[in-house]
Amino acid sequence: EGKENSSEKHSISRDDIVVGRILGEGFFGEVHDGVYKSPSGERIHVAVKTCKECSAEVKEKFLSEADLMKNLDHPHIVSLIGVIGEAPVWIVMELLEHGELGSYLVEEQYTLTTATLTLYCLQICEALTYLEGLNMVHRDIAVRNVLVASPDCVKLGDFGLSRYIDEQEYYKASVSRLPIKWMAPESINFRRFTTASDVWMFGVCVWEMFSLAQQPFFWLENGQVINQLELGVRLPKPQQCPTHVYALLSRCWSYEPNIRPTFSQLVCLLSDLHRMELEQ
Ligand code: ADP
Repeated sequence: EGKENSSEKHSISRDDIVVGRILGEGFFGEVHDGVYKSPSGERIHVAVKTCKECSAEVKEKFLSEADLMKNLDHPHIVSLIGVIGEAPVWIVMELLEHGELGSYLVEEQYTLTTATLTLYCLQICEALTYLEGLNMVHRDIAVRNVLVASPDCVKLGDFGLSRYIDEQEYYKASVSRLPIKWMAPESINFRRFTTASDVWMFGVCVWEMFSLAQQPFFWLENGQVINQLELGVRLPKPQQCPTHVYALLSRCWSYEPNIRPTFSQLVCLLSDLHRMELEQ
């Protein structure tokens, strides 16, 4: 009793939350919007993730994402507000008013400029540089996991597959529900996930942004992807993607993980490209 730890810091009271309409369907249950009254009396718009069939085993999986998010603090990562551990179990996060980037790209396709799309890429890259510094691999970098806070701010918002990497410096996945069309060859072949495989996935996520949320390799079956990659086939340049950005993507998709750029290099390169776009 009285001991302060991070789980207590994030334990909040259900009485301080008013739950509203359904925003979407998550893997574990519905996600609602709501308002949270903080201890200082501030009213914060929140997203409340619920867990439908929350047996002890499911609850542990559901809360593992929140556990990881407790340790994160970055302007381009969705922040966790708190967890309610008793049934019905809730994860409470900051609300991103404009929802998923995938649908936003389609809705705003006639207003989004190349400079804005480059800015989104830069912001996600900054978030990933931060995760790299914490030895965390994300493993699921895709437009479906990016949320839109405002027209000039996006945040990485789903840590369901994220893991801290161990001494061997990679995470060996055991599950089979993996996003094959986003994955690096070594992840498909050996289920090997590293920061370098996150760089590959980031490249695919940038491709999705500039192709306004088309599915990568929609013309292939999952089972055909690795053969194509090993033959040297890569995603084509989306029409709206600047040549300089596509050149970076090609480097992110080097077969050999060691020669892919790092996230901090990509931040430098993308901020230069963003500046160039603004000057045009
Ligand atoms: P899961 O990862 O469990 O499948 P998601 O995080 O994808 O669940 O959430 C499901 C849906 O809820 C998303 O597609 C999005 O529309 C909405 N959503 C989730 N988190 C937020 C948030 N912080 N702000 C706004 N909408 C959100």
